[in-house]
Amino acid sequence: MSTDWNALSDEAFRAETRTFFENEFPGHFKFLPRRMRWAECRDWYLKLSKKGWIAPNWPREHGGMGLSPTKLLIYFEETERAGVGRMPDQGITMVGPTLIRFGNDAQRGHFLPRILAGDAIWCQGYSEPNSGSDLASLRTEAVPDGGDYVINGSKIWTSMAHDATHIYVLARTDKAAKKKQEGISFFLVDMKTPGITLRTIRNIAGHEEFCQVFFDNVRTPKENLVGELHKGWTIAKGLLGFERLNIGSPRRPLQAMEKLEALAQARGLMADAAFAERLTQLKLDLADLGSLYGRYVDKARRGEAMGPDVSMLKVWSMDTYQKLSELLLEAAGEYAPMEGEVSFGDTAIDVLSPFYNSRPGTIYGGSNEIQRNILAKYVLNLPS
Ligand SMILES: Cc1cc2nc3c(=O)[nH]c(=O)nc-3n(C[C@H](O)[C@H](O)[C@H](O)COP(=O)(O)OP(=O)(O)OC[C@H]3O[C@@H](n4cnc5c(N)ncnc54)[C@H](O)[C@@H]3O)c2cc1C
Repeated sequence: MSTDWNALSDEAFRAETRTFFENEFPGHFKFLPRRMRWAECRDWYLKLSKKGWIAPNWPREHGGMGLSPTKLLIYFEETERAGVGRMPDQGITMVGPTLIRFGNDAQRGHFLPRILAGDAIWCQGYSEPNSGSDLASLRTEAVPDGGDYVINGSKIWTSMAHDATHIYVLARTDKAAKKKQEGISFFLVDMKTPGITLRTIRNIAGHEEFCQVFFDNVRTPKENLVGELHKGWTIAKGLLGFERLNIGSPRRPLQAMEKLEALAQARGLMADAAFAERLTQLKLDLADLGSLYGRYVDKARRGEAMGPDVSMLKVWSMDTYQKLSELLLEAAGEYAPMEGEVSFGDTAIDVLSPFYNSRPGTIYGGSNEIQRNILAKYVLNLPS
């Protein structure tokens, strides 16, 4: 089995990750204000994969690093410090953990090595044009036919679908089910299958980060059904738990904090007591986020389901990220609306990107309003 990184002291692990990320991540992609496209990050993905560092969150027996919460935080802190960009990583953050928990041996044996090797790049086929917050109302259908299921319908806001080789799809398999959550199944689909077409969509910052995906008589083999037929909602929620854990990771807020501190230093802002107090408050919020995240990473490592309370992590993480990005703009003063890196003395800082990047964080993975509804209903047991 691979190295037991948890056996290293935190200091030694930090030194190892810092040296690697600082020296090996390509300089021209550092602090990219958008997600990296697959063509840009393929070499980096493969380098991490070869080193055994591509899946810090997976158990070691499945080819991951099996990091403890503290080590995982160090890993993220060091990637942020070095300006390592976000890759199309849904295979690592969501599909792998979902197959480990809900898939069968054949699915794990087939897909996990391909995810690690960068041969299977995933996107998420959940939302539909009229089914976002009310996801269970989805209308994409899958009908059995011989050894396949035949899928018809459309998915929207599918992040990085134009770079993906595979998509996981929620589809209705029993229209007669009494409750809308029943009769939904979870499928794995190869994006090269005839009948799949894409339309790219531009985000607020002008980057093509997502797509609408159309399914016109798309066939996927029966082996690609995950879990039981009609019981996909449980798996869908399980995957959303992993998604909310990933969104809740402090890496994005940490990146905004790095910029904010550099800007405060460059503009001498810490001499202003009111500013210093706000920055300190956000540092404490970030520290709380780190502790909360660690608790859920531990849960994931024990193989436990995330549960509805993970919504708290998602809300806290994205609220903190947005507050940090807003203070960053305020601190930049008259330079706030400038795109790209702006020079402040010897330091160049991109002050606008965190603002753009943090806006959708309270929408994707289920909006923060929906997370609060979940907390109210399933954690606090308040009436609907
Ligand atoms: C950047 C980005 C990437 C995304 N990537 C993906 C992806 O890869 N795959 C995928 O499947 N989806 C993806 N999504 C879609 C995302 O999951 C949905 O946008 C989200 O679930 C909200 O759905 P909606 O857009 O249909 O908004 P709606 O459901 O129409 O909601 C509109 C507003 O009403 C509020 N609202 C709705 N119902 C309630 C309620 N019951 N109580 C209180 N408030 C309510 C919502 O909070 C929101 O503010 C992405 C979205 C974004 C912004």
